[in-house]
Formats: sequence, structure tokens, C-alpha cells
Amino acid sequence: MTQNENYNLLLLAGDGIGPEAMKEVKKIIAWLNDNTSATYSYDEDYIGGCAYDAYGTPLADETITKAKQSDAVILGAVGGPKWDGKTDYDLRPEAGLLKIRKELGLFANLRPAIVFDALVDASSLKPELVKGLDILIVRELTGGVYFGEPRGIETLENGERRGFNTQVYTTSEIRRIAEVAFDMAKKRGSFVTSCEKANVMESGVLWREEVTKLHKESHSDIRLEHMYADNCAMQLCRAPKQFDVIVTDNLFGDILSDEAAMLTGSLGMLPSASLGATDTQGSRHALYEPVHGSAPDIAGQNKANPLATILSFAMALRYSLHQGDYADLLEQAVQNVLNAGIRTADIAEAQHTAIGTSEMGDAVIKQLNISLENSKVA
Ligand code: NAD
Repeated sequence: MTQNENYNLLLLAGDGIGPEAMKEVKKIIAWLNDNTSATYSYDEDYIGGCAYDAYGTPLADETITKAKQSDAVILGAVGGPKWDGKTDYDLRPEAGLLKIRKELGLFANLRPAIVFDALVDASSLKPELVKGLDILIVRELTGGVYFGEPRGIETLENGERRGFNTQVYTTSEIRRIAEVAFDMAKKRGSFVTSCEKANVMESGVLWREEVTKLHKESHSDIRLEHMYADNCAMQLCRAPKQFDVIVTDNLFGDILSDEAAMLTGSLGMLPSASLGATDTQGSRHALYEPVHGSAPDIAGQNKANPLATILSFAMALRYSLHQGDYADLLEQAVQNVLNAGIRTADIAEAQHTAIGTSEMGDAVIKQLNISLENSKVA
């Protein structure tokens, strides 16, 4: 299918259901090693609560070094009640997640919202509105109002308190996230919708001007539309299939990506990718993780749906490992599993008998084997 290549991954399974879901990813990796020309080796380490237990910190420096040396990091989930009482914010599991994103310079968050035909009824929208939905939200992750200075809470002379944050973007920050969106659109439906609030915010005016400029300079083959973020929120509920790639800032992206995710109705199915800047050799740091958390309520019970983590690995194949064919193969295997009525409890309906995490992984492998057999016959 593709040329022979060797790839080096770092698997950070984390807490809760993370290790169970990652075990199923390892089955896929073993299958790819046995059945394709590419070779995937991996190292494993701790992040989150388990890293605190092992190393006294939610992310050790050695783990960061390994992450920087890998072709891609695949992450499970972090957090759980065991560590909830920690008052030192830097020692909480979530601090490990924020730190790895910062250390790898991951400024672009990619959240696909795909509705698999077999799960069309899981959406809260009418089936005809979401059937075949396949959109991608590209969110700026390291700038904007979450990081802008000045910020704080102060007491005014009249005794009132005042809370303030600063929405701030530079041209280079806007251009690099827009560049990612145009690149993604090229591989998909060649259409980008850029969202801001240029009607009321200067930072939005600059955003619109810079995206337009970049589009004219180097991406005029892609269709570009601008939309106010509040209108985008409405359009996502009204007619979500009008979109292909949506690019937006950190704050609006936080909200719009959650809204888009919920159009699919199933947390256990949603992958994500976070990408850093491209270096001179054309490679970039990248982290792939499911959107869901560590689900402590079902951890260790073989009940978790591993498909979001498996689909995150498919994104790694596509965006970091240059193995789009294998990503397609894996996504198709997941689709076939769902079409066959195979479900974990979170996506099962009355007519289904729910299976466990490891059985779901096995079902994906079975579909991969069927595709392999079919390709030999063809
Ligand atoms: P959650 O996503 O872990 O769980 C929400 C609900 O969805 C739970 O009922 C859970 O059982 C279910 N669920 C989630 N993923 C599932 C899957 N793959 N298969 C089947 N069911 C699934 O969110 P939460 O309960 O708000 O948070 C639990 C912990 O996870 C907290 O410590 C939180 O801080 C952490 N968290 C981590 C991340 C991350 O690692 N990126 C993201 C969100 C929450």
C-alpha cells in the first residue's frame, strides 16, 4: 500500500479507562506490524494520576523527552477520584495534560465530528440533519482569552470587585492556525468557514483580515467563508452539513467543538488531535487522544468503548505517520463493526447485546482481517 517505513510512538495510557482502551490500540498496532509494510514500535509511560503515584509528578521530564522524540503520542485519559483532593494544582492529573500540550507546542486542536450511519439515532438532532455528517473543527489552542494578559480579579475603590481577561491574537498566531485549516480542507471538502466576532471585537477584525490575506496569498483554490461565532453555533444545530472545516479561536473553539461533538451523540466515539508547528524537515509534534475522560465509574470493568482511542490512533496514522491508506482501512473497519450491530454498552440500543472493551477491539481486528482477505481476492 505505502512505502516501507518505521515509526516510533509513545503510548500514555493514563488513568481510569485509559489503559483498557490503549490495550485495544496495541492490538491494532500488532495487526499493522503483522500485515503491512510499515513497522510501528512504541514506548509506554505514565501521565496524570498514575504518573503522580509513580514519579510524584503528573508528567515527568523524562516522559516529555520521550514525547518529543516520538513520531506521535497517543494518550488515553487522565484523572479520577483518587487524586481529586489534591489542592496543589500543579500536582493534579490534569496538570500533566496541560503541561504536555505546552511542552510540545500544540497550538492546533482538531476535532472531527463524524456521524456513523449506524449511530445516526444517537444524535439529538433529526437523522436527516446529521446522516453523513463529517466536519472538522480546527481550534486555536495556545492563545486568546485563556492566556491573554492582563488578567485577574481586583477590588475597585468603591469596594466592588472586577474580573478581567484579555482576548489577544497576533498575526502569526492567526496565520499558523488558518494555515492548518486550509491544509486540512485541501485533504477534505476544500471549504473553510472562519469564525470570530468581528462585529464587536477588534481581535475578530484582525482575525478576519489575516485569514482573508492568507487565503488570497496562498489558498485561493479553497472556498473561504467568514461567519460570526454565534451564528456558527446556531448553524451547527440548524444545518450542520453545510460545513467542512471550521477554524476559530481558543474560546469560540472550546464551545463550538463541544457543540459539534454532541451532534454525534456518542462520547465514546470521538477522537481528537493536537498539532504543533512544522519543523524544517516537515514533521511536527502531535498528540492524539479521545475527547472523553477517564470514566472512573466504569474503569476496570471491561465496559469502556475503545473506539474513540482507536479512531485517535487512526488520526495519528493520517496526520503524523503519513499512512492515510491505513487510517482509511481502520476507520472503515470501525464503520463495519457498527454496521454489523456490534456495540459497547454506551452506544447499544434495545436490540443490541452489549459487548466489552476487549471484545470490541477484537471485532475491529476481525474486520481488518476481512478487508485484508477481500483485498487479496480483488
Ligand atoms: P468522562 O468523559 O470521563 O465520563 C462522562 C460519562 O461518559 C461517564 O458516565 C462515563 O462512564 C462515560 N464515558 C466516557 N467515556 C466513555 C467510553 N469510552 N466508553 C463508555 N462510556 C464512557 O467525564 P467526567 O466523568 O466528567 O470525568 C471523569 C474524569 O476524567 C475526571 O477526573 C476528569 O477530570 C477527567 N477528564 C479527563 C479528560 C482527559 O483526559 N482529556 C477529559 C475530560 C475529563
